[in-house]
Amino acid sequence: MDLFEYQARELFAKHGVPVLPGKVATTADAASAAASALLGDLVVVKAQVKTGGRGKAGGVKLARTAAEAGAAAEAILGMDIKGHTVHRVMVAAGADIDSEFYFSILLDRSNRRHLAMCSKEGGMEIEQLAKERPEALAKVPLGPAGIDEDVAREILTQAGFAEDEGAPIVPVLVKLWEVYKGEDATLVEVNPLVRTSAGEIIALDGKVSLDDNARFRHPEHAELVDKASQDPLEAVAKAKGLNYVHLEGEVGIIGNGAGLVMSTLDVVAYAGEQYGVKPANFLDIGGGANAQVMADGLDIILGDPQVKSVFVNVFGGITACDQVAAGIVEALNILGDAATKPLVVRLDGNNVAQGRQILQEAGHPLVTMVETMDGGAAKAAELAAGK
Ligand code: GDP
Ligand code: MN
Repeated sequence: MDLFEYQARELFAKHGVPVLPGKVATTADAASAAASALLGDLVVVKAQVKTGGRGKAGGVKLARTAAEAGAAAEAILGMDIKGHTVHRVMVAAGADIDSEFYFSILLDRSNRRHLAMCSKEGGMEIEQLAKERPEALAKVPLGPAGIDEDVAREILTQAGFAEDEGAPIVPVLVKLWEVYKGEDATLVEVNPLVRTSAGEIIALDGKVSLDDNARFRHPEHAELVDKASQDPLEAVAKAKGLNYVHLEGEVGIIGNGAGLVMSTLDVVAYAGEQYGVKPANFLDIGGGANAQVMADGLDIILGDPQVKSVFVNVFGGITACDQVAAGIVEALNILGDAATKPLVVRLDGNNVAQGRQILQEAGHPLVTMVETMDGGAAKAAELAAGK
């Protein structure tokens, strides 16, 4: 899960990383009120969207009065930044910047370790810097213990900081590691990390991605979820522990195992071409495809008004086909009148004969059984097209 800058700043503050105070506003009036509540003569109004390059897009504006802050918010709210509409701004105390640096810690998956990156030349051109003068961006692999003061000094030296220049930055890097480790992040990026003209080191921007696989360790992260922009069906699926991704097509897909579901998406996309239909979702019910899981899955897919037909593609393994078939029959019973769309079912694998027999005997009017995956995809596409 990626966080908004204001959320990242809150996590920074919690771990003692120096940030300037700020407040979120969704209207120009609230923004100017927030500006007058902040001390100091400079405020910055910043678009809160989960993408970089806000500065270049005009989504970061400095203001010296409450009225200016209101006008800045007026201009920024509703703006489109790389496909993200701005619904809120952060009004924060402005920094008097002397220098802008770059610092990040990320999970380097290909090398199976954490990596710190640091540059004396931070700010808005960091991607360009990384491409054109990679030597100006220090990359320091981290051990499991992360960043202590010695490692922080090493990172800063590699980035070209003189010892006295780097000294005040050392504790900030150590605390940013504490954010990364303590919050189970896969990315903590600060660009710019600034030195103010008074010599203070401040994290002026923050980009944090949290590891969803560590969610169970952080019940407090639940409130960071941006419910407004979450797909409602995906939210329901998540609450039920299902692996569901909403897509834009008409053919609902349920399978067991991510690999099987992905190849089902492919064959449905292929078969759907001639009918002008596409997969409507990705839903993996996993290994234990019992009746309740099947009912939950079908309920979500049938609740999507886009869906015109459903293709259930299951390969019986540990959960054998007869259990899956019984699950489908029971799921249709549970759903009753809520089940209104045709279901194409392909079963194969462990106990396939018994599974097919169960479906046959149930004889549910919405269910069509098919022998092969390609045949199932073609049938589901045809039904979705209303043919
Ligand atoms: P991004 O473009 O999305 O990464 O947004 P940032 O938060 O990094 O802001 C972009 C740029 O705006 C920074 O690199 C700074 O140059 C400038 N900026 C942001 N906040 C302040 C501030 O408090 N004071 C000043 N003087 N400039 C700021
Ligand atoms: Mn930035």
